Amino acid sequence: MTVLQKHSKINVFLTYKRAIYTMSKIHQLSPHEAQKIAAGQVVERPVNVVKELLENALDAGATSISLYIQDGGKKLIQVIDNGYGMDRQDAKRCFEKHATSKIRSVDELTTITSFGFRGEALASIAAVSKVTLLTKEQGATEGTRIDAQEGTISAKPAAPPEGTNISVSDLFYNVPARAKFLKKRETETRHITQMAQAICLGHPKLHFQLFIDDRLFVSCPSQDNILKRCAQLWEKNTARHLIDVNAANNQRGVTICGAISDHQWFRYDRNGIFFLVNNRWVSNYQLGQALLKGYNNVIPHGRYPTSCIAITIDPSLIDINTHPRKQEITFANPRIVQQLIQDTVRSALETNVSKQIKKNISLYQPEMPDIPAAPFEHIPHPISIAETQKLPAEQTPLAPNYAPASKQDNVTPDAGDMPTSPENNYRLVGQFGKTYILIEQQEGLYLIDQHAAHERILYEQFANRFEKIPTIKLMFPQLVTCKQQDLDLIAPHLNIFQQHGIAIEPFGKDQLIIQSTPVHLKDVQLQELIQQVIGWIKDDNQIDQEQFSKSMHNKLQAQMACKAAVKAGDSLTHEQMQELVSDLHACPNRFSCPHGRPTGWLLSLHDIEKMFRRKT
Ligand code: ADP
Ligand code: MG
Repeated sequence: MTVLQKHSKINVFLTYKRAIYTMSKIHQLSPHEAQKIAAGQVVERPVNVVKELLENALDAGATSISLYIQDGGKKLIQVIDNGYGMDRQDAKRCFEKHATSKIRSVDELTTITSFGFRGEALASIAAVSKVTLLTKEQGATEGTRIDAQEGTISAKPAAPPEGTNISVSDLFYNVPARAKFLKKRETETRHITQMAQAICLGHPKLHFQLFIDDRLFVSCPSQDNILKRCAQLWEKNTARHLIDVNAANNQRGVTICGAISDHQWFRYDRNGIFFLVNNRWVSNYQLGQALLKGYNNVIPHGRYPTSCIAITIDPSLIDINTHPRKQEITFANPRIVQQLIQDTVRSALETNVSKQIKKNISLYQPEMPDIPAAPFEHIPHPISIAETQKLPAEQTPLAPNYAPASKQDNVTPDAGDMPTSPENNYRLVGQFGKTYILIEQQEGLYLIDQHAAHERILYEQFANRFEKIPTIKLMFPQLVTCKQQDLDLIAPHLNIFQQHGIAIEPFGKDQLIIQSTPVHLKDVQLQELIQQVIGWIKDDNQIDQEQFSKSMHNKLQAQMACKAAVKAGDSLTHEQMQELVSDLHACPNRFSCPHGRPTGWLLSLHDIEKMFRRKT
């Protein structure tokens, strides 16, 4: 290379560099690139596509929908509906941005009843996948096929059945940055089955089928109401534990209906909890909290019910336009809805328990339609309290293992009938294993867990006579040492202890002194209780002061009751047992301890006779 040649090369380079520095930096993205980016608002993962397509089918008045997914929806999502379909022009137009048939102006949002209204789902989906649409209007002689890919659309005549059949393939094939965030097949599938469940719950009359990787996974023929739909979707075991709920606040124009699991059923996660607002599946933290408050002290802390609550409310009292995927909504009066849920759940649980009292409990089965269950619960792990006896030792056994294993199914005991009138109707047999009180009554043998029962009695006393609870001054005050930062944390909340009869105050920089306690707690070391309260304060991310103090009161009452109650292994005299039984009888919520464990089980005479083959 000559010097001249070299020189000219450098010159070219310098000119190029200068050109970069002098070129203006802003340019318009091509419409297709812009749409690929905007699509992220609507489509983050396959389940978002599923939701949009199912909702479009419902908006089109479909009564039957089939959903096919392959490889967790990454390879294929196909929705076939029998809705009103589209003519050729609409079929071409539906992929355009802001193309919608559902509203004409934003003012209509206050009265909207369709799922869609933004006209951006199909445009977004088509920007990041390969779409084929087959559609024919009801009664039309000819249909249309559209292929949409990379911002181009081709339309041709076709002869599909009436309705719409849309396939979305290779999601994010052209957006690798997004594709790499997709999860494995099972995870994406789980999100989709959860969504499909929610859609089915919101539309009990819809005939729905789900095919996963070419296998029929769920088939749900039409049902007339939500309770039957729940029974159809969930395993028989869950369905047996469902109670229907129905309530209204007529003044405020809010109604709720649905199904919730009873006090004998719980799960370890929240995936069994569904809320629908005007048929739209929503996630809303406050609604979940309201539901759980209804279950307070009925199922154990940290366990969750299975439920579906459908809220119907005047559309002008909610805002559905606050979330890009419309999964969250805002209520104009959130408290009214929350209170209605909490009160309805609590009273439904109470009514259900008292219904049980009137029945021969061990054979109790809610009147559930016998609908073949769709296996939507393959993935989550619901658990019946009646099954917890199979769990590891950390769980307290709920009933003595009194039956040969092979007969277990025939004699599964259930939280049962209390002696209705203790004076005449029962005989106290005695104590068994220093843990259970045995009672003979007409229906059979009733076993009471002495600790759980006493816990319930004390809890109700602490809760009702709160601030009037008899206390005793300790001869030797208790000193509790804790870390200085923990002391700072708990110091502002000591009044909660004081309201429960525990006179406690800071003592030096890292100690608390307890001068008096409720009579029942006089012999109990309170170190652990205080550490627990510190833990709750750390855990609790409630900002609402009133809620916080309410929840602290409840937890403290439950914990005090637990500490003060007789333990398994304590011998009880006949009189003590007698008192315990009649105190328990007088308690509300007497069928479970404050942590949700049952206080008693009935082994019915009928079952005993069956075991001895006196009866068949
Ligand atoms: P939106 O639902 O917000 O209107 P979409 O992008 O989801 O926006 O759909 C655009 C339009 O396409 C809809 O307004 C509707 O007219 C039409 N459309 C989409 N899916 C269907 C379907 N399954 N059946 C009939 N029409 C449909
Ligand atoms: Mg839509």
